[in-house]
This record gives sequence, C-alpha cells and structure tokens, in this order.
Amino acid sequence: MSSVSLEGKDIHLSFGKNKVLRGVNIDVAAGTTTTVIGPSGSGKSTLLRALNRLHEPEQGDILLDGKSVLKDNPDELRQRIGMVFQQFNLFPHRTVLDNVALGPWKLQGLPKEKAHALALEQLESVGLAQKAQSRPGNLSGGQQQRVAIARALAMKPEVMFFDEATSALDPELVKGVLALMADLAKGGMTMVVVTHEMGFARSVSDRVLFMDHGSVVETGPPAALFDDPESDRLKRFLSEVL
Ligand code: ADP
Ligand code: MG
Repeated sequence: MSSVSLEGKDIHLSFGKNKVLRGVNIDVAAGTTTTVIGPSGSGKSTLLRALNRLHEPEQGDILLDGKSVLKDNPDELRQRIGMVFQQFNLFPHRTVLDNVALGPWKLQGLPKEKAHALALEQLESVGLAQKAQSRPGNLSGGQQQRVAIARALAMKPEVMFFDEATSALDPELVKGVLALMADLAKGGMTMVVVTHEMGFARSVSDRVLFMDHGSVVETGPPAALFDDPESDRLKRFLSEVL
C-alpha cells in the first residue's frame, strides 16, 4: 500500500462572514491515523473538504508527501485522497461490482474488464465478493458502507478520509465498519477520521485532534487527550460524549 504524509498548514476558510476554519494545522505522518473530534458545527467536515479542495482554503497550504498540492489540478488531488461519507452515495441502479469499478474505469481509464477484476478484488478485501451482482438497496447499511470503502480503495488512494462513516448506521452494524477501518489503519494507510466513536479514536488512532469553533484546541496521542485533557473545552466535550 502506498501511503504518504498529509499536512494542512494554517488553513483558513469562511462561508460569507462565517469563519469556519481559523488557521488549522494538521500533520498526519505517512501510514498513521489521526482522528478529528469536536462538537457539531466546529468545522470538522469543512476541514476534510478544505484538505481535498472541495472548498478552496483562503489561506494556508496543503502538502501531500511533503509537496504543496495547491497548484495541482483539484480532480487529480481528489483521486489521491479517498473519501467515505456518512451517506454512502452508491448508485442504486448499478450492481455493487459496477459501483466499485466505475471510478477506475471512467475516471482512471482502466479497461472495463480490468476495472471489474480490480473491483472484485476490493470487494473480497471488505468481505463482500458474494454481493458483487446485488444492488446496493439489497444490502444492509453496514454492507453498503463497506462497498463505499471498497469503491474508494479501488482508486488506489494515498490517503483516506472518513467523515462520520458510521453515524448513519444501526448500532449493530457499526462494529463491522469500524473493524474494517481499523484494519486499513493497521495496514499502513494514512487516514484522517472524523468520528464520534471515542473507542475507535482511543484504540486505533495515533493522534487525536480536538476542534472547537474552527480551531484546533488540543492535539496529541489519544491517551494524553482522553486521560489528561488540558483545556476546559475538551474536558467539557469529553464529559458529554464519554
Ligand atoms: P462539523 O462537521 O464539525 O459538524 P461543519 O464543518 O459541517 O462542522 O460546519 C462548520 C460550520 O460551517 C457550520 O457553521 C456550518 O453551518 C458551516 N458550513 C458548512 N458547510 C457550509 C456550506 N457549504 N455553506 C455555508 N456554510 C457551511
Ligand atoms: Mg460534519
């Protein structure tokens, strides 16, 4: 697996007068996982979207593998960063296999047969090869999310972003998706994971970043943040979510 470092330096972003990111720094070493936690509206999703330039930051720099990507074609950048959302956004009328194969085929120009072979391989890796010919609607939410992860991985990303990937799932389906994410992390993928799953943040991530009001209030290894929070804001947040 090719994995690279990702850095966001002093990222600023506003929507109109609403300053949503106020100079955010994030430094994810190659092959490590950083979880981003914080209250609703603190700017977590916007941070991910700024880092892959779905929203262009007004100020700051983004580096992949140590090199600034601000002048690159944003479509190319987005192929280097796989993204998994709360809503799976699978094409309902396509088979599971087609959903995974479409990116490599249509966006990356792989011949259709090769894209299908690759898609099947990715489905095997998430334990869903037997569902290749099903429609997404016939799968459980957890299975659909694993397909969405396979779809992102089929593009051979260098970094993976997860934005509350388990928040829309029934509780009994959350575990399987988190286990898959943990496997990816252990396999050396560079990941940024926005989550409310504090167990995952503590046991899987190398670093945790706590955001509030568009700023990083505290960052560090999970044990330090969870067992010994410094700021009142993080203490209050943890008392509400743990
Ligand atoms: P979080 O993911 O931490 O809940 P968001 O990044 O979604 O927070 O939102 C942070 C702030 O940015 C909120 O005030 C939200 O209303 C605002 N915001 C997010 N996306 C947009 C958008 N596309 N247009 C305008 N405002 C937005
Ligand atoms: Mg969000």
